[in-house]
Amino acid sequence: MTLTEMTCPPELLPFLKGGHRSYREVLQLWEEANPRPEMQCAHHRTDIRYIIDSLGRRMYSHQCLVCGSRVTPFIPKPPEFDMCEPWDRKFETACSDRMRTAILGLWDEYRATRQSLWRLYYNNYLQSPEWEARRRNALRSADNCCERCRAISSRKVPAVEVHHLHYRTLGEEEPEDIAAVCAWCHREIHAKVFTI
Ligand SMILES: [Zn+2]
Ligand SMILES: [Zn+2]
Ligand SMILES: [Zn+2]
Repeated sequence: MTLTEMTCPPELLPFLKGGHRSYREVLQLWEEANPRPEMQCAHHRTDIRYIIDSLGRRMYSHQCLVCGSRVTPFIPKPPEFDMCEPWDRKFETACSDRMRTAILGLWDEYRATRQSLWRLYYNNYLQSPEWEARRRNALRSADNCCERCRAISSRKVPAVEVHHLHYRTLGEEEPEDIAAVCAWCHREIHAKVFTI
């Protein structure tokens, strides 16, 4: 690949430089190095708390003092049940709101980075000899004629571009994944895709 460090964030460079790989392989490597964000609390600090259940009984459980969640099932009488405080619902709700916000932020970041990985890979791949070979092959096997014009109106219009029918095999396309098209059709196809 011909990627320069100028155009690529340093954290993505290791996944994009070096020899040719399919996007599937690149994404797999990136995902191995970048686990999906999730909030994990080890519940290191807990306190025993009680609630009053529907029968009016006191039920006890441990509440995490960091994340607010219930750590053990509610039981009627814990070994050390004296003098404990009521369950802190407000704290529990505030914590889960705070964690939800934090995790949404992490997810946004994760998705944005994955998107730029895709974009960089795509732009870079279109400059590569591997794409050039597939592109030429697609044009040749369509006799340099637009496959869409031929399908729609049986007209022979010179094909100058090659369109991805889908991106699932980006970087390892089979002939049936791409199509030779004229510039007009190519614009039409993308205009449709983006306005539907
Ligand atoms: Zn916790
Ligand atoms: Zn056409
Ligand atoms: Zn296209």
